[in-house]
Amino acid sequence: MNEAETNPAQLEDYEKQIFDLKQLLEISKSLNSTLDYMILIDSILYTIMGQMKVLKAALYAKRGIDSSAFSLHRNYKGFELEHNVDYTLDESLPAMKLFSREYRCYTLDEIQQILGNLGGLDKLVPLEPTLIVPLKTKGVINGIIILGDQIMSEDFSAYEKEYLLNIATLAAIAINNAFLFEMTTTDMMTKLRMKHYFYTALIERMEQSSLSGKPLCVVMMDIDHFKLFNDTYGHSCGDVVLKQVAKLIQLNTRPTDTAARYGGEEFCLLLPDTAIEAAKVIAERLRLNVATTITDYENTKLSVTISLGIACFSPEMDHSAKSVIDRADKALYQSKQNGRNRVSISA
Ligand code: GH3
Ligand code: MG
Ligand code: MG
Repeated sequence: MNEAETNPAQLEDYEKQIFDLKQLLEISKSLNSTLDYMILIDSILYTIMGQMKVLKAALYAKRGIDSSAFSLHRNYKGFELEHNVDYTLDESLPAMKLFSREYRCYTLDEIQQILGNLGGLDKLVPLEPTLIVPLKTKGVINGIIILGDQIMSEDFSAYEKEYLLNIATLAAIAINNAFLFEMTTTDMMTKLRMKHYFYTALIERMEQSSLSGKPLCVVMMDIDHFKLFNDTYGHSCGDVVLKQVAKLIQLNTRPTDTAARYGGEEFCLLLPDTAIEAAKVIAERLRLNVATTITDYENTKLSVTISLGIACFSPEMDHSAKSVIDRADKALYQSKQNGRNRVSISA
């Protein structure tokens, strides 16, 4: 190397670029290590905040498989949001078309200059974002990140914007993977998880519980006399009620619990860090909620009841996931035998 090539400023520049590339590799590894949506969004936001030295960051993503709008994810950092304001952005907005056409970071002013208006992003104005970073994978915008001020400087440099787009691309791929995973493990009708996902989650939780000693409960549920219900009101009416029961299960459980559709009109629930007494309270609340909910369907008032069975994981007794499920199922059978619309606990 001659002297012209080793000038200190240039060297420092190269070193920074190598450092940044290494950082990108680490970010890629970290973002690809989880398919859990919540953890992923947190990880994306904290990465960007750390790398760009901003105190405010939020991410917009599609909420469900069939949604046509981007919702502000509730794990946002630093922004003061009004709880009664709808921040949702539709995918058909002109700004989204612009992001897709010309993929780069934007300020609201730049969007205003290009489109002559905010392209439908007016809802972002009160949040005062300093930069909008679209997420794009396979030619499709699948999210948007908005950032607040940088701690140290006024504006993002061109280099920082390019770096942000690299992180955004990694984030977009990770979000797409998590989205596909959710799609292939979710029952489309009830929007609850499928049986095979439940089994995998149960095996994981059983291992954790064996190590930590924390309790773990499984609840099996089955709609009572559902065949008769279908025969009386028709199958599509049955579908409406089935979805309603699934919704009640979802509403009555925590995000850390796993609710699944086990079979036709059977559901199961995985309750981590939950002892039998607490599981009994949850199951009883669910039973009561289902029994007292009346669904209005084409002027007919409908209601069903469910029977439930609970089993608490015991490392001594349960050497497989099937063992816990079978015990919960036996308890459920007891509930059926004893008159239905009740909760039973496995011995
Ligand atoms: P029990 O109280 O003993 O559970 O009686 P049951 O009639 O609910 O039990 P059974 O297993 O004999 O019947 C289950 C019924 O659930 C039969 C089937 O038509 C209905 N079912 C299963 N999946 C669906 C579905 O996706 N939609 C509708 N509408 N019905 C379903
Ligand atoms: Mg059944
Ligand atoms: Mg049934």
